[in-house]
Amino acid sequence: MAEKRDYYEVLGVSKNATADEIKKAYRKKAIQYHPDKNPGDKEAEEKFKEAAEAYDVLSDAEKRQKYDQFGHSMGPQGFGGGGSYGGGFGGFGGGGMSMEDIFAHFGDIFGDMGGGFSSGGRTRQPRKHVNKGTDLRITVKVSLNDVMNGVDKKLKIPRWVACDHCNGTGAKDGTAFHTCERCHGTGYVTTVQQTFMGPMQSQAVCPECNGEGKVITEECSYCHGTGINKKDEIVSFHIPAGVEDGTVLTLRGQGNAPRHGGINGDLLIVIQEEKNSELIRDGLDLIYNLMLDFPTAALGGSAEIPMVDGRAKVKIAAGTQPGKVLRLRGKGLPQLNNPSVKGDILVNVMVYVPENLTDAEKAAVESLKEQPNIVPTESTSKRIFSRLRHIFNKENRGE
Ligand SMILES: [Zn+2]
Ligand SMILES: [Zn+2]
Repeated sequence: MAEKRDYYEVLGVSKNATADEIKKAYRKKAIQYHPDKNPGDKEAEEKFKEAAEAYDVLSDAEKRQKYDQFGHSMGPQGFGGGGSYGGGFGGFGGGGMSMEDIFAHFGDIFGDMGGGFSSGGRTRQPRKHVNKGTDLRITVKVSLNDVMNGVDKKLKIPRWVACDHCNGTGAKDGTAFHTCERCHGTGYVTTVQQTFMGPMQSQAVCPECNGEGKVITEECSYCHGTGINKKDEIVSFHIPAGVEDGTVLTLRGQGNAPRHGGINGDLLIVIQEEKNSELIRDGLDLIYNLMLDFPTAALGGSAEIPMVDGRAKVKIAAGTQPGKVLRLRGKGLPQLNNPSVKGDILVNVMVYVPENLTDAEKAAVESLKEQPNIVPTESTSKRIFSRLRHIFNKENRGE
């Protein structure tokens, strides 16, 4: 037998590693060298087994203590030898740990990775094996107009679909398979292990059929036995009014078909909202910054406001102050799933102060200062500030 590596070294943890660190380290190695990821790679398989053996010892307080004390130097009676040390290590110590043993005992370490990883654990009942295809995720851009009215989309999406020639079974003509003899079609095998705690029964995904309960005798040549083919498909769907950036719509069963038949995954549509050049979205409300010229603000008039569909003309009262907010009720966006509830368009009024003036313009502005109603008095200022409540004052700042 080859020189055994130190178990701590195998997992890449320190001698003082906590149980949690050991578990994490093993999970990492197990995933790295998992046979599904390294098909036919003997070295990876050995590493996979080596890590499992190390974990078997280091995850068990009693075994770990003995290992710390005696190491591998137990000779034929030790961990690396006959596997009969103390209460017996079952088949593990002898290096005869099969892949099946590993899945049966440590399957739960793989957690929810799905597929072949979800082998039954030591105490867990295996889940009923149902093939499910993977989810597809696409991003769809929508305009404010789409958000306002909802929109029907038709997109070409490449996805895995069940093979027509074998009905998704992967077997030639859909018939060239038989029930797995090892698991009698259940997809699971039960094993009994001798452990410190006595015999322990566990269930694992059948390695013969990978849990599918059947074995293909002749592969379908159109899908090479996978039961699925990649195909560009036209998918039609409706995006409801009121969605926003990041909204995810789920189309059940519109994702990928699984290998060898089962339930399709879902199609997840992630909404990406295109920025509108004029309107700023704030929940259901839309904000528009309106820049008025001074004469219009002073004398009154009208201004054109962009809306999601079309434009509106609003009246500007004489003496309109910068900071005033005009509200176009119900012209904002509808609520998702409740489109009768609508937001507003808020027009945030600013007044343009001229920046570059000719001498003649300067003179004209200069002459304005001499007029009695151009410069605000203290009481005028107070009155206006009290109307524009969002402008800083003591009450608003909570002082
Ligand atoms: Zn089987
Ligand atoms: Zn096929």
